[in-house]
Amino acid sequence: DWLRLETFDLVHLADETADMLHATFQRVIRVHTPKTDVRMMADKEKIRQLLVILLDNAIKYSKEPIDIIISLTKGSVRIAVADKGIGIPENDMPHLFERFFRVDGARSRSTGGVGLGLSIAKRIIDLHEGQIDVFSKPEKGTTITVVLPHKK
Ligand code: ATP
Repeated sequence: DWLRLETFDLVHLADETADMLHATFQRVIRVHTPKTDVRMMADKEKIRQLLVILLDNAIKYSKEPIDIIISLTKGSVRIAVADKGIGIPENDMPHLFERFFRVDGARSRSTGGVGLGLSIAKRIIDLHEGQIDVFSKPEKGTTITVVLPHKK
């Protein structure tokens, strides 16, 4: 299929990605992790791209520090990217993963983008047989969670 599987430490990848985006956008990105490393078998570069998409959105649609929370459950790895930004109106939630969908042109025009990020993120998660969910409240913020099988 379309995955290049390799074994890597997700904590290290998250740190690297957070550092890279911090250097570019000067935004605080905190990485919360379990005490152990989180070795997983997945397509590392696609998981990096997924993190960049979620963090780039969190950066665009919020002003406060952003949190990446990594946790381990039985058989799976959970990654949450949480911001305290403008949030997403409930009516728009069902459309977020559609290609070229953007919440309300007016608010989005100033931030740039074409509405592809989340559709690509969804594709990456589907290829890994994982799950992606969005929790959001207007004016409060957005948390996007990803659950991936924890194949060692
Ligand atoms: P790009 O193609 O550069 O990713 P985009 O950010 O508009 O552009 P998506 O990543 O697919 O596209 O996101 C779709 C829409 O969902 C966005 O236009 C935005 O309105 C909303 N959205 C996504 N993430 C967030 C977030 N963290 N906070 C608020 N709104 C968000």
